[in-house]
Amino acid sequence: MTAVSVSLGVGPNGGGPASSGAPASPLAASAAEARERSAARERARAERRARLAGVRRRRRSDTELWEVARRGQAELGGSGPGSADEATAEEVIAWAVREFGDGLAVASSMTDSVLSYLVSRQLPWVDVLFGDTGYHFAETLGTRAAVEHELDVTVVDVRPRLTVTQQDAVHGPDLFERDAEACCRMRKVEPMRETLAGYEAWATGLRRGDSATRRNAPLVTWDSANNLVKVNPIAAWSDDDLVSFALRHRLVVNPLLNDGYPSIGCAPCTRRVAPGEDPRAGRWAGLDKVECGLHA
Ligand code: SF4
Repeated sequence: MTAVSVSLGVGPNGGGPASSGAPASPLAASAAEARERSAARERARAERRARLAGVRRRRRSDTELWEVARRGQAELGGSGPGSADEATAEEVIAWAVREFGDGLAVASSMTDSVLSYLVSRQLPWVDVLFGDTGYHFAETLGTRAAVEHELDVTVVDVRPRLTVTQQDAVHGPDLFERDAEACCRMRKVEPMRETLAGYEAWATGLRRGDSATRRNAPLVTWDSANNLVKVNPIAAWSDDDLVSFALRHRLVVNPLLNDGYPSIGCAPCTRRVAPGEDPRAGRWAGLDKVECGLHA
């Protein structure tokens, strides 16, 4: 379901050959509209960047943010993870937008665009952080491009210091086969942690159904590993909730989801799972590793 850029061979105004004077075909008109939407998004992103560049955001201290997290937990968490009186995803996002404004970022693995869409409805042009490790599937990179094209968000590519080629030269080729922890640390965790230091809070798409280690994920928490507030607005959502929401709103999803990959990470460390298998069984299969380390 990724959006792709299609060259239709239209004239400079998107209305067919410029000299023919013929009326625009429906396809050409639609391509012109898509280009205009895309240009309008770029203008809006540029305006936001310019606006934020002139404002020096004060980041509250860790103690202040810890207190905000504690208050958020009390206001939104109801009787605890999974309880009927927990706040909805929209309520969690509304609280986070009120508390943090542009100090809130979304983290996305580009498996789907549900969380990015939900947050962008309340905080247009929100930064969506994508850990661009250099090892992604082509489908994931296509999803990233489609998200930027389709949603009112600002995709921020978070890249490691070393390219894959440089890492191969320094640490030897295919480090992921010999030391996945080190590879994840250098390519995902450290770059994302450095980027998160500029924000007060991050929203993740983490869900309790993802794995046993996420079973009790709260809606709001203090993230002591990364020193900022972490919100998990769709923690309570099931796979069906996610898929039906994406379908209802015609949202971009990674095509690999329909190809046996319910959890998608870097290509060398992700395999298809068999029907009935744990959805995350395809991540670092055969290794004693279930998380990249960012959600520790
Ligand atoms: S998932 Fe694999 S390839 Fe990606 S950063 Fe971690 S070890 Fe490296």
